[in-house]
Amino acid sequence: MRNVAGLNYKLNLSLSQCIPRRFLVEMEVFVVKENKKIILDGYAYTVHYNLVSSLRWKCSNKISKKCPGILVTSNNYKNPTIEVEHSHAGDANLEIVEKAKAEMLKRVSISTPSQIFAEVINQVPE
Ligand SMILES: [Zn+2]
Repeated sequence: MRNVAGLNYKLNLSLSQCIPRRFLVEMEVFVVKENKKIILDGYAYTVHYNLVSSLRWKCSNKISKKCPGILVTSNNYKNPTIEVEHSHAGDANLEIVEKAKAEMLKRVSISTPSQIFAEVINQVPE
């Protein structure tokens, strides 16, 4: 059993330092976990209400930064609309870090962490 939490932590640190900001401009919702966690425009959200035709998301910094930020999307994550603004700046690296992490964690069972790290880093555009 590999130490996934430790790997996660190291990835967060190293990735957020090496990823160029101009790479992150898209306004598409990135689904981290179905019906649980998404990222949009530098902000992470966890589900608040799961409604019939829409999903209501609260900022993942609601507690740590006392942020009132609320986002609403359709239930297939389209048409994201900010309903309540955030009280803090977004982190442009969030999405790319989560994407790279998802990719790396997927590979943990078949390769060593250093192999995985090297492979995924090589795929990150300059
Ligand atoms: Zn917020």
